[in-house]
Amino acid sequence: MALFKKKKDYIRINPNRDQPSNQQPSVPDDMWAKCPNCKHTLYTKEMGAERICPNCGYNFRIRAWERLSITIDERSFEEWNHGLETKDPLSFPNYLEKVRKMKAATHLDEAVLTGKATIEQQEVAIAIMDSHFIMGSMGTIVGEKITRLFERATKEQLPVVIFTASGGARMQEGILSLMQMAKISAAVKQHSNAGLLYVTVLTDPTTGGVTASFGMEGDIILAEPQALIGFAGRRVIEQTIKQELPDDFQKAEFLLTHGFVDQIVPRTLLRQRLSELLALHVKGEW
Ligand SMILES: [Zn+2]
Repeated sequence: MALFKKKKDYIRINPNRDQPSNQQPSVPDDMWAKCPNCKHTLYTKEMGAERICPNCGYNFRIRAWERLSITIDERSFEEWNHGLETKDPLSFPNYLEKVRKMKAATHLDEAVLTGKATIEQQEVAIAIMDSHFIMGSMGTIVGEKITRLFERATKEQLPVVIFTASGGARMQEGILSLMQMAKISAAVKQHSNAGLLYVTVLTDPTTGGVTASFGMEGDIILAEPQALIGFAGRRVIEQTIKQELPDDFQKAEFLLTHGFVDQIVPRTLLRQRLSELLALHVKGEW
């Protein structure tokens, strides 16, 4: 699948940056990045905390903790359901080893970070998926954390905001991954029945089982510019329907035109837009 072969567009922090070895002067490898859109080489500091190309406006993929820091009020995050243990139900070769490495590389326990925070002093239950953790794929623990987020938000009467970023269901957990789609959807419905707001922000990439379940179940669906959003891959669809698809197929802009997305919001404006939406939907006395 092309998605999994996509070249990294994010420069990782060099774990050895504080320990320069031998005599050769060196340049830290997180200092420069190449924009996959305009191909310019960028000084990473120029991208700012939002990680946006200053030349063309391309939104680089960002990690869950970075997303959190540019979205919520400082020091307002309380993490929920950290540390649920990923199991290996199919005895898939090297799976748990891969998960262990991902945990160390991302400082996450799984491909989603969940908890409670405030956005401009408004409380919200928040989930942020991270495509750097096995492509943000949805296994049992991702499904469980998001389900528990909705259940607790329903109990505490909180709105939910989810930033999606996923390659889809996690193949290493087979059918158990697919079951998460229905499980989360049931929790979303209960939250909705309680009259509570659910906003999704679709970021690059949002595909497969995540699109086919909670990604598209938001009361309001926002997307970042140029984000890849779809279910099956482009090539699979072309081969199935035997037609060539337009160039912008499965881009956020294409989905907006066809009514699947309510608004495309540049990353620099997302916090403000979420704050406005939360303020508009506060339960009041009328
Ligand atoms: Zn660029």
